[in-house]
Formats: sequence, structure tokens, C-alpha cells
Amino acid sequence: MEKYVYAFGGGVTEGGADMKMLLGNKGANLAEMSSLGLPVPPGFTITTEASDHYFKNGGEYPEGMWEEVDKNLARVEGEMEAKLGDPTNPLLVSVRSGAAVSMPGMMDTVLNLGLNDRSVGGLSARTDNPRFAWDSYRRLVTMFGDVVLGLERREFEERLEALKGRVGVKEDQAVDVESLQSLVKEYKSLVQQKLNREFPQDPREQLRLAINAVFDSWNSDRAKTYRRLNQMSEVGGTGVNVQAMVFGNLGETSGTGVAFTRNPSTGAKEFYGEFLMNAQGEDIVAGTRTAEPISSLKTPMPEVYQALEGIAQKLESHYKDMQDLEFTIQAGKLYMLQTRTGKRTAAAATRIATEMEKEGLIDKATALLRLDPEQMEQLLHYRIDPNSQVQVIARGLAASPGAAVGKAVFTAEGAEQKAAKGEQVILIRMETSPDDIGGMYAAQGILTARGGLTSHAAVVARGMGKCCVAGCDEIRVDEEQGRFTADSVEVREGDFITLNGSTGEVILGETNLVKPEVSDHFSTILDWTDEVKVLGVRANADTPHDAQVARDYGAEGIGLCRTEHMFFEGDRIDSVRAMILAKGEGERRSALKKLLPIQTQDFEDIFEVMDGLPVTIRFLDPPLHEFLPKTEDGMEALARNMGMSLDHIKATVEELTEFNPMLGHRGCRLGLSYPEIYEMQAEAIFTAACRKAREGRKVLPEIMIPLVADVAELRANREMVRRFGKEVMRREKVKVDYLIGTMIELPRACLTAREIAAEADFFSFGTNDLTQTVYGLSRDDAGRFLPEYLTKGYFSRDPFVAIDRAGVGEMIHMAVKKGRARRRKLKVGICGEHGGEPSSVEFCHQVNLDYVSCSPFRVVIARLAAAQAALRYPAGK
Ligand code: PEP
Ligand code: MG
Repeated sequence: MEKYVYAFGGGVTEGGADMKMLLGNKGANLAEMSSLGLPVPPGFTITTEASDHYFKNGGEYPEGMWEEVDKNLARVEGEMEAKLGDPTNPLLVSVRSGAAVSMPGMMDTVLNLGLNDRSVGGLSARTDNPRFAWDSYRRLVTMFGDVVLGLERREFEERLEALKGRVGVKEDQAVDVESLQSLVKEYKSLVQQKLNREFPQDPREQLRLAINAVFDSWNSDRAKTYRRLNQMSEVGGTGVNVQAMVFGNLGETSGTGVAFTRNPSTGAKEFYGEFLMNAQGEDIVAGTRTAEPISSLKTPMPEVYQALEGIAQKLESHYKDMQDLEFTIQAGKLYMLQTRTGKRTAAAATRIATEMEKEGLIDKATALLRLDPEQMEQLLHYRIDPNSQVQVIARGLAASPGAAVGKAVFTAEGAEQKAAKGEQVILIRMETSPDDIGGMYAAQGILTARGGLTSHAAVVARGMGKCCVAGCDEIRVDEEQGRFTADSVEVREGDFITLNGSTGEVILGETNLVKPEVSDHFSTILDWTDEVKVLGVRANADTPHDAQVARDYGAEGIGLCRTEHMFFEGDRIDSVRAMILAKGEGERRSALKKLLPIQTQDFEDIFEVMDGLPVTIRFLDPPLHEFLPKTEDGMEALARNMGMSLDHIKATVEELTEFNPMLGHRGCRLGLSYPEIYEMQAEAIFTAACRKAREGRKVLPEIMIPLVADVAELRANREMVRRFGKEVMRREKVKVDYLIGTMIELPRACLTAREIAAEADFFSFGTNDLTQTVYGLSRDDAGRFLPEYLTKGYFSRDPFVAIDRAGVGEMIHMAVKKGRARRRKLKVGICGEHGGEPSSVEFCHQVNLDYVSCSPFRVVIARLAAAQAALRYPAGK
């Protein structure tokens, strides 16, 4: 017959740490501690399979489960020399849930189960402590009422507070026994009145109801939502742990606490934690009394402290990881109630991983696999000082991590002007456009009311490594008046605000920030990643500064240089606009002539920084109207500035307007309509490359044609590039090697990848555009309804954040196979935002891409994710 109950504690152990799926994390670790001979109060775990059965069969228990529970309960009674419900010598138990993966806050605990109107007397007499017995009873009714009977905890707490007021005491412990007795009475009549039933007096009934409550909690709405949000759908049910109670609140030689085997915030190898004497676990959690640091336990109880420290060491060397422990001291005797892998900050995680490797506890692969790549980003950005008090006034999307403080400004020019005077500013816009780039550079952080995680603001801010909160629709922005409101709070131009781009919080006022630091531990980890990863990691960078940042973080090249960002800098935009407003090819060419030396210099500067590494430069991609003003005022100003008629400007704007610029006249289509634009860019790249080569630099340009749908588009552009290559090299009298490739960002390009590969030295998947075209979902509009899709569970992840393997991923995989079938050595990478997201990096490894390219600040995340992918999937797929 199937076994549904496993014993632990008191010399009998039937489970172990390797049985987490069956016993849940808590149950498996209790069994493990018990088999290590540690002092674990006896108990038993009902398996996750039993809870699964209960669900699949409409609340029926599996056959034989209760017989097993009875048998195990009898054993615990024997061990504890007490009986559940015995009026003179009662056994009390705790009931706790525990799934295979911990789900904090999902299910509360019931303590002191087994008390009733009679056994409370027995407990009182045996402990010679009536106050303790009645306090335990009132805690049981509260917890049972809340967790099992579904009453509001608040109802109990209000009655306790009122009582304290009546008897004139502040602390719970100061309430005398008579008052507690009357409180329990009050609680029981509350149950009677609300539920029309008695608080169950039969301890078996209490146990059965508590076990049902744990089973039921697994399928509560909040638990289901939690699992969906944490991608835990495969976790099958919860375990139930029933364990003999030990009491930390029996008097001054009793207590309870939590401890970590190393410091969870710094990672230092020191015993760390806190405890409270004469208390139960919930008192520590509630924070009503201030706990003491664990080292102060040494003085009153030196032996207990020593034993505890010894156990901590034993557990850490056994589990080979930092442990988070819960313990209780009952009348001077130590008991262990829990051990689990301890949560830690990014700084602690890197320190613990490298130090444990040095100590010989774990190897490098284990150290690398243990780190959370996303968490590492904490180490690269300013953070809000965790000790500061903050007033959050709104929440938006956590679009680019880090924190920033500054004065509110509502225009890009305003941001530039104030920053030039040395002020720190936060740029606040409805949404940003390429026009705002100067202001974005000048600002400490960016806040927008509209737009999703791949909106202009989000992508550009991530590229710059600046904090950004995007799509914050809780704020009403009035750009003209220079103010925004969030509920009843108004923030005016010049007021201080703080942004937390890691959580999406908008905070009123100035907040202290903590500086980022790349520690030796983190550098060591990054060195290790290079020893194991197969994927190359490049960066998306458009300026020498970003390129330098990327190189410092270990980028092995630039995977995407978006040339349009260069077109907005300083007064270049004038030449760009002159080019767009030109009447005919002749005028256009002369406007482009002005841009040629500037672009050439841009590329020279980037080649200089990236000496020895490949640089992928993409020809102009966005539709031309993005460079023209949108408002009447803007058009008038432009007309004055260019000495042109307003009519001509308006006519050009109208001519270039598109219903859907995402799918319109952009990318290589521009290069074919206005060949002189791409010709200028080709000439600039080759001239810069030749000059740098002559100076002795190793330049490796890779010229990339965007938005190709048909091989003919690539072929025509490729011929032009080659022609310019030849001409410039002849003129400059130096030869440089270069590649010509294409972005793959349209479904048709994937489907015809074989033909396209005939004309391409490399493919780079533009997964931002590929995701929007595969889904038929514009990346700028997705923010309007995607959040709802995610909360309702239609999508488990945002496809603009993590590659949708089933759709977009299949497209990529197919294109890689087709492309390489035509050209065996085809170099293949990815340069969409997904290139810095761990699960997408893993996917890229699995489909054998050559490299991923991401924002400079994500390079370290991608390096770690690439190393983990190589360790998990040594043979690629
Ligand atoms: C992409 O589409 O994935 C890409 C990198 O190009 P952009 O974001 O500039 O359209
Ligand atoms: Mg694109």
C-alpha cells in the first residue's frame, strides 16, 4: 500500500533531504536534521501526494492515510510521554504546511493544537504555570480561528488590545491569568457567534480540521497566483508537518530565535541571528518586542549557545550551503525546528560562493550555479539605503534597475539646462521619443506615464545604465504646467523625487542612496564564467562611453551599434533634418556630406575603444518622420531655423506620416529608397576603419542591414557596401577585413533564412521586432493589456522580456538551422533586449548561437547566465 506519512524526530527517521518533492522542503529538512542526530522534536509529515490525492478526489483522503496518522501520533505520544487531549497530561502539537518550493506567506501555522477547556488545566498543573497555559490556549484559538476557521485575525487582536487597555498594561506578557481566561471565553463566543458552532473541543477534530486547512490552502486563490507568478506550476501539492510542541515561552530559561550560518547581508563567515527569551516564534515575526543579537545568548546560556553554534556548523558542512535555522529553548534545552537554504543579498551571495569554493566545500560549477544572474544587477547600480524611510506615491514598471534622486523636470531641454548647472534631475515625460535623448543623458533617472518594458524610455535607459520607471499610469503628467499628480500628491518642477527602477516605485523627496561596488568576490565569479561559457557576450552600445563601460564589464565586442542614436546628438539633428527636408537627391547628398565626417569620427572613436574586438554597426533603421517635430510649435521653430517655409515642413511631415511606423518605411527599405543615406554610412564606416587600421588598431567591422524580409533587399545593399569598401580601401591605401550581415527580425526572414544566408556573413536576431511581428503585437502598445494577460495567467511571462520559446524561439531555431544549412560557418547572434535575460540566454545557448548582445550593464548577467547554461547543457541542446 502507498505510504502517506513519514516519521521524524526522537530516533526514528523515515525521510531525508532528497525527498523534497514528496515531503516538502520543511518536512524533508526536518527528517534530515533528525537523521543527523540533532534535537528535533518528534513528529511526522503527511506527503504532498496525499494533498494531491485530496484535491483530485474532491476532498477525499487517500485510503489508509488516517491509520498512518494515528500510528504516528501514538509514537509521538510515546516519545513525549503525553497524550493528545489528555486532561491531566496533554500533548500539544504544531501543524505547518510545506511545499517542495517555499512559498512565503502562503499558509500560516497553527501552534498549541490539543488544548481545550479541560487540557488547559492539565498543562497548567504540569508546568505549574497557569498563565503560560492560558496564554497558549488564547494563541491556539487565535491561530485556529484565523487559519482554520477563516475568521479575521484582526477580530482577535482587537479584543486583546481592548483587554490590555482595560487592565492597563502595554505588553502581552503583562496580562494576568484571570484576564487571559476571560479573553479565551470572549474568543470562543466570537467563534460561536460568527460561525454558529463551538470552538472544537475534541483535539482529533482540531487536528483533522487543521490538516484540511493546510490541504485547502494549496488551492486558495492567493497560492495559485503565487505559483503562477513564480513559475511553479509543476510543483504538485503541499506537505503537512505535525510536530510535538516545545515552548520558548515557559519562563526566563526558555526562548526562541532564528540564525544564519553566515551573515546573509554581507556574506561574512560569522554566526548571525537573533533571539527572544520567554517568547514563541510569532513574537519575533510580529516585531512587537525587540530581539537580541545571537551573541548575547552566550552570557545567560553558554552551553546552549555552544551547542547551537556547533549545530549550525554541522548543518552548513552537511548541506554545503548557508543555512537559515529556527530554534527553541525549552527550560534550558535546545530544539531545532527548521533548517533551509538562507536567502541572501547579491553581495553576500558572491562572497559566500567564492569563499566556500576556497574552503573546499563546493566546486566552481556549484558556486556558479548557485547564483541568481538577475540578482547580480544589484551590484552595479545605486540602491536606496535600506534603512531609509520612504513615501511611495506611485508604482510603474521596473524598466531599468537602480535608484536615482533629483529635481523633477518635464522637458528634455530643461533637464539638459539644469544638469549643465550641476543640478541632479529626474526627467518626467508622458513618454519619451528619440528627441529626448539629450535630456535622458543629462538626467539621473527617467519616469514615464506610458509605455511598456521595451518602450523607447526603457530601452534607452537600460542602454545608458540609468534608472527608469516606465508606464506609470498612476500619475497624471502635465508637461506644459510642469507638474504631475499621484493620488492627492502633487509634484512640481524643482521638487525632489526618488525613483527605484528595480521595483518601479516613485518616491516623494530626497532619499539616501548606496553606492554600487564590484567586489573582488564578484570579479572572481566573472573570471570563472569565462572558463565555462560557450556563448560569446557582446554589448549594445552607441557611444564610446557605453562601449567602454561594456568592455569594462567584459563584453567581447559590440553586437549592435544603433546609428540613429548618433543622429540626435548636439546639432547633428540639423543636418539630419536638412537631409530629410531636401528637395531631390542633389540637395540630400549635400546635406549628407556634412554628416559624413561626423559619422566617420563617431566610428573612429568606437573602433578605438573596441580595439581588437568586433563591432557590429547597423545602418539607419527608424522611419524618417521620427527625426521631425510633431507639434505645430516645433514645426514653426524648425522652419525658422532652416530658413524654409512652414508649408514645406508640414508637407514633408505629412508625406512621411505612417499608419504603422513599426511596419512601414524603415530599415533596409530606407536604404533602397534613398541609397545615398546608407552609402554615406558605408563610407563613414570604411573610412574610420581604414584610418584606425593605419594607426595600428585591430578593427573588425561587421556591417548590419536591418529589417530584411527578402534576400533581394540584402543583396542590393550588400553590393553597395562592397563597392564602397573597395573604393575607400583603395583611396586610403589600407585593407581591413569586414563582414556584411543582416538582422533577422521578421517572420519572412526566418522562413527564407536559407536564401538570405547566401548573402549574409552573419545573422543577428532582433528579437524586439521579431517578437512584435510574430505576435502581431506592437511593443509600444503591449503595455496596455499585457499586464492583465500576465495577472490572469494567459501568458506566464512577458514575451518582450523572456523569449517565447514556443513561438519566437521556434522561429529562431528554424532560421538558425536553415541559415547554417546554406552557410556552415554563418555567425549567429541575438541583439534584442532578450540578450541580457537569463532564460533567453539559456535558450540561445541551447540553439547554438555564437553570441548574445545586451545593454552594457547586463553584460555581467549574460556572462553568468551563459556559464550556467553551459554547465546545465554541456552539449548545447
Ligand atoms: C530588435 O528589434 O530586437 C532590435 C535590436 O532593434 P531595435 O530595438 O532597434 O528595433
Ligand atoms: Mg529592430
